[in-house]
Amino acid sequence: MKLQLIRHATLGVEYAGVRFLIDPMWSEAGANPPIANTANDRRNPLVPLPAAANDWLRPDAAIVTHLHPDHWDEPAARALPKTTPILCQPGDEAAFAGFGSVTPVGERAAFRGVTIHRTGGRHGTGLIGKRMGRVSGFVFRADGEPTLYVAGDTIWCDEVRQALDAFRPDVTVVNAGGARFVLGARLRWRPTTSSLYAGMRRIRRRSPSIWRRSTTACSPGRSCGSGSPRKGWRIG
Ligand SMILES: [Zn+2]
Repeated sequence: MKLQLIRHATLGVEYAGVRFLIDPMWSEAGANPPIANTANDRRNPLVPLPAAANDWLRPDAAIVTHLHPDHWDEPAARALPKTTPILCQPGDEAAFAGFGSVTPVGERAAFRGVTIHRTGGRHGTGLIGKRMGRVSGFVFRADGEPTLYVAGDTIWCDEVRQALDAFRPDVTVVNAGGARFVLGARLRWRPTTSSLYAGMRRIRRRSPSIWRRSTTACSPGRSCGSGSPRKGWRIG
């Protein structure tokens, strides 16, 4: 298994010889306006795609955890060959019009020897969490490979705990940018607060390795290495 952070939530995963591109966002830096109701007015994405991103434009499959534009955007839809198989949440299929193979993953799907389980999550608490819509994570399993859990855009919640208990992943990837609106609670984990580390400790009991990724914690395009995370990427 090899993981490569490309930028933001976009992640390259080589797993059992299969190349998965997760949550492709291909917009140029600054192409999109600032997120409304947030504390900064910087345009998004904050940084350009690294040159290494082009190596991921011919994946064996793309997986989209949910439809927020920082996980699937029009430039990604244009950049990926229309023959790229897409795996997504049930109900999101219409967003991938023009692609020849779109598979909504109910509980699980099989792809070239890899079993992919869909997991739940919550994109915040209360009303804002509901308005952020449904989100998913995905667990990868194959013979001879460590179990990988990509949690997606979620806070610590019962769905994450249940996924950890059910799958006992060897490696868990969380989006730990700590995003939040000016009004309202957090939308994802935050890497610098005790709440994150409390959540991480809970994960740590169930998953030996945790990778956190955010635009502040990780360098775009930096390889996360293979087998086990590099020092500095691991918590707990
Ligand atoms: Zn999101």
